[in-house]
Amino acid sequence: MPKGRLAPSPTGAQHPGNARTFLVAWLAARSSRSPLVCRIEDIDSPRVKLWALTQALDDLAWLGLDWDEGPPRPGVRAAMEAGDEPGVPFVQSQRLARYRDVLAELKSRELIYPCTCSRSEASQAASAPHAGHEPAVYPGTCAGRFAGEAASLPEGTYCWRFRMAGFREPIGWQDAIAGLQVASLPGTLGDFVIAKADGTPSYQLAVVVDDHDMGIEQVVRGDDLIPSTFRQLALYQTLGWQAPGFAHVPLVKGPDGLRLAKRHGDSRLSILREAGVDPRRVIGWLARSLGLAEEASPITPGELIETFAWEKIAKDPVMFPREVWEGWLR
Ligand code: GLU
Ligand code: ZN
Repeated sequence: MPKGRLAPSPTGAQHPGNARTFLVAWLAARSSRSPLVCRIEDIDSPRVKLWALTQALDDLAWLGLDWDEGPPRPGVRAAMEAGDEPGVPFVQSQRLARYRDVLAELKSRELIYPCTCSRSEASQAASAPHAGHEPAVYPGTCAGRFAGEAASLPEGTYCWRFRMAGFREPIGWQDAIAGLQVASLPGTLGDFVIAKADGTPSYQLAVVVDDHDMGIEQVVRGDDLIPSTFRQLALYQTLGWQAPGFAHVPLVKGPDGLRLAKRHGDSRLSILREAGVDPRRVIGWLARSLGLAEEASPITPGELIETFAWEKIAKDPVMFPREVWEGWLR
């Protein structure tokens, strides 16, 4: 019974690519009668954007995807408007003290060091590095610094990087979709940003601490995050924590072969939801694209549980044709 999770980032809107990953995560949990957590990954927003949070939760509910632990729905809006903290343990922006504690441990063990090289990389590090945003391999310019030297650097002029040098053995995992993944870390990935100077965690740190603390045993996410999984495994090893299993779902791409994004036209799920589109049509298309249904005919997530199997999942990215979007709205 591997406990799974849905991890939406309420930074704007959810798209068919997010829906496809959520569907696989949901089916993986439901087909093995495992619990499912919903966690809000909002550390890259200055604060919880109420509309974006409720929109993400409403999109999930509209698709027919539920969860067992996490922010209440639809109660979350009312709770937040009343000034209550929504499902405190499941919202990253409310767990900053916990990430700081782990950072302090890494500092005391000299496993991280202050880096003054690149401010832009540090400012983006709170978001998961999706396709096209994978940072360059850091050359190790500041790796000679001790953690304590941060005290003499002005706040805001540096970030914290995690030392990969200690990982001499190759690291890897058997991915439920992508198969065996192995790499030797220092050379291929370099030292990654783990926090800002003020202790705000990077995506890599927050996601590992959360998945560990929430008892997640199976992570399902887009395959553009495979490089991040290597970094996260390095953190699990360092912290002495058991890593979850991983399944990386191939991406949804635009007609130009790049990850589906704004430039391909509006593809927000909220548009479909507000236009009254039958969500079963969307699920049907996603299931067909995943290899989980023969045809793209309307279907509910629940109807896919019984026949769900990892082996069926298509290993190639899928193109999202504009005609499909327009067809839904017609
Ligand atoms: N919150 C991330 C996203 O929506 C997902 C990261 C993960 O699943 O590890 O991009
Ligand atoms: Zn540096």
